[in-house]
Amino acid sequence: MIFSWFRNRRRQKFLKIPMPETWLPVFQELNFFNSLNAADQADLIDITRILIEEKNWFPCLDLDLTDKIKIIIAAQAALLILRLDHDYYHRTSSIYVYPTDFYTPHPEDSEKQLHTLGLATSDGSVILSYTASHAGADNDRDGHNVVFHEFAHRLDMADNWVDGTPLLPDKETFNTWVRVMTEHYDQLKADFQSRRRTVLDPYGTQDPGEFFAVATEAFFEKPKQLHKKHTSLYRILQDFYRQDPANWHRPKNPTPPTR
Ligand SMILES: [Zn+2]
Repeated sequence: MIFSWFRNRRRQKFLKIPMPETWLPVFQELNFFNSLNAADQADLIDITRILIEEKNWFPCLDLDLTDKIKIIIAAQAALLILRLDHDYYHRTSSIYVYPTDFYTPHPEDSEKQLHTLGLATSDGSVILSYTASHAGADNDRDGHNVVFHEFAHRLDMADNWVDGTPLLPDKETFNTWVRVMTEHYDQLKADFQSRRRTVLDPYGTQDPGEFFAVATEAFFEKPKQLHKKHTSLYRILQDFYRQDPANWHRPKNPTPPTR
């Protein structure tokens, strides 16, 4: 398409401009960034810069929405699409950032509010708590990462449905996806009901959409455990994301939280 040709040319031109000197140290504070090889780091930086440049970023309440905050959030979102055929989450237009956790209306009870770390809306927005987003990057091994979670929802929504099924290349892949996801979703529900310890966050028992989001968190944050306990789930996520975090060379002693 001619339009995307112009857009890609504009992006290539933009990426030739060196990024500000202060940005690289921010990337280097991210544990997952240090686990990537040099080529992937360079690609991740490019994707991050485009996400920062092209999305509408809005601070909420009194947040001072600095470049550092944008890098920490956008770099995590970039990791999910690093090896996908993607268009920079083109249906995600706006990113709203609260300084900390926030409250949203309860869907079933207008008198109540829900304590919220992040939200992906069907109209193309992602809303995030900065403290939760930063904590997700600081601790990259606990299986909790609100940025991965919400942007996995945005990938899921690419076909307009939040059903745990992102866009897949063909019918055969789709059928395998549904079979494997259902098997592990049912297993998580059974484990949770029996109070067995789980690699996947039990929040994923809510519905298939939440299951895909928590499976994405575990894939990048607890890849070895996920591979061991949910091998076929790990493999279809590995095929989908075209990444193999279980074989990343992760630094032995991750950087302690700096908040
Ligand atoms: Zn969710």
